[in-house]
Amino acid sequence: MKKTILVLGLVSFLAFPVSAATPFDGKLVALDAGHGNGETGAIGYCDGVPVVEVELNLAVRTELEKFLPLGTYHDVLQSSSRQERVADAEAAGATVLISIHHNGSSNTGADYTQSFVTQKNDKTFAGYIHPLIVGALRLPDRGIKSDGYGMTVYGSLPGVLTESYFVTDTDGACDFIAYQGGATNTRVHKEAQAMYDGLAAYFSAGTGGGKGRNR
Ligand SMILES: [Zn+2]
Repeated sequence: MKKTILVLGLVSFLAFPVSAATPFDGKLVALDAGHGNGETGAIGYCDGVPVVEVELNLAVRTELEKFLPLGTYHDVLQSSSRQERVADAEAAGATVLISIHHNGSSNTGADYTQSFVTQKNDKTFAGYIHPLIVGALRLPDRGIKSDGYGMTVYGSLPGVLTESYFVTDTDGACDFIAYQGGATNTRVHKEAQAMYDGLAAYFSAGTGGGKGRNR
């Protein structure tokens, strides 16, 4: 009995000499932080302190990348044109693309979760990402909307443009100030964790993107 266990242990050791396989093996996630390149995106306020959308988008990307294995993500260039951003993701050999945005409104109480897609493979991909963001943030769910936003129109890789919450909502803006102050378990952390979990589920399901390095 003991001998059998030892042999099995050796076999699994030999099969995974460095580390166990992860759903991200052979995948490349293109992460686009919306705006930048002189463009702020929406601006919210927490007690008069401005919170700029592009900084929030970058923070979510930074937190998401802490979960992703090295070599499985690509920072999309913050070009002025969305077509150029998608071209950058495709040139890098990306398997999928997430374009991270946060919504804006003149109503500082408006807040909900929404995602945008264009192509059929976007819808499948968004079906793994969007519900987890909704579950993590527990804001009203405005669903996955088909719309002609450039980030999912151009190219052919599966992509989703996320508007996880409103940076102009007072709670959303103050959450970011707390995040910058070192708070844990903020919306920024929850959103990044949800995106990571959604990506892992998508790749585990084997839908994992027809294009890119995994071809
Ligand atoms: Zn935006």
